[in-house]
Amino acid sequence: MKIIDAHIHFSKIESFRETAGKISLVDYSGKGLEKEFGEAGIVAAIGMGLTEQEAWAFPDQASPNPMGLDLELDFEGGLEGAAEGMVEDKPENGLNGFKDGKTCPDGTVHRTPAMVACCIGINPVRLDRENIVGKELDNIEMKLARPEVVGIKLYAGYYPYYVFDKVYEPVYRLALKYNLPVVIHGGATYSDRAYLKYSHPLAVDELAVKYRDINFVIAHLGDPWVMDTAAVVSKNPNVYADLSGLIVADGIKIASLRKERLFMDHIMRALVYAEKYNKFLFGSDWPLAPVKPYIEFVKDLVPEEFYEDVFWKNAVSIFPRLKNSSGRVKFRIELRKLGTLSLLH
Ligand SMILES: [Zn+2]
Repeated sequence: MKIIDAHIHFSKIESFRETAGKISLVDYSGKGLEKEFGEAGIVAAIGMGLTEQEAWAFPDQASPNPMGLDLELDFEGGLEGAAEGMVEDKPENGLNGFKDGKTCPDGTVHRTPAMVACCIGINPVRLDRENIVGKELDNIEMKLARPEVVGIKLYAGYYPYYVFDKVYEPVYRLALKYNLPVVIHGGATYSDRAYLKYSHPLAVDELAVKYRDINFVIAHLGDPWVMDTAAVVSKNPNVYADLSGLIVADGIKIASLRKERLFMDHIMRALVYAEKYNKFLFGSDWPLAPVKPYIEFVKDLVPEEFYEDVFWKNAVSIFPRLKNSSGRVKFRIELRKLGTLSLLH
């Protein structure tokens, strides 16, 4: 089965590095990603843009907008490098399209994951400062114009604003202008400096009614408020949810949680209630979990007849740039190679 992982990370965030090393036991690098993707049949992924200006600062109120994917590209300005990797048409690249590494001044070779598109991350704190907001919005728009940017990511809860706060209004205007979806962190946070009241999925209901022409994706099914997410997804035609980050663990722990009836029922109840498998999409939140065991876990949650929707088709329809980008973009090249391009039309 070909899979799109609609929610991963590829940023230099110290807490992600530590989790990868001690909890999920994942090689958090381009090389590690390439290996896991190859083994799991993942042909494309969407990285949620995020940065911290110093170690352990996440959620960093000082991070300039927009936040990109800087795990292995910080030496040359983050997203720019990823963009190059994505649009380079090199048939000799493998299925996962990793281009040759770039050599840093210190001799380290960095590799660009060509199949990773990006939802650029927004830091609302800097949009709330009159003296810099104009420049920050210009920088956001510049990135949105690039084909490898497929959406926008808001870190509700991590940053202390409700998603319907007016600070985000210019961001939604840009989402409308470029016809891009907005992914919103939902539910529990991976930092104790966050505020849970801002990440409750009910806040997305108000937003979805206000902006009927923007598609919103509630990340992590808003866990633990999964029934609230189900209600918001059911009611609003423009609200979707991803199934990433429901477990942060290594393969062994994931396998044992799959046998915990109460754990599985908690999530399945929301999916069954919503009864909309065209609105849920697979994501792993890698590196917080190894990809392959996480896929097996999500397969347990979803009836088999909907695998193609959840693991592939829904991502393509929610993120239109996965199919509408120019012919040079890696996705189309890879999909054509795989003979699966027709699925996108
Ligand atoms: Zn995430």
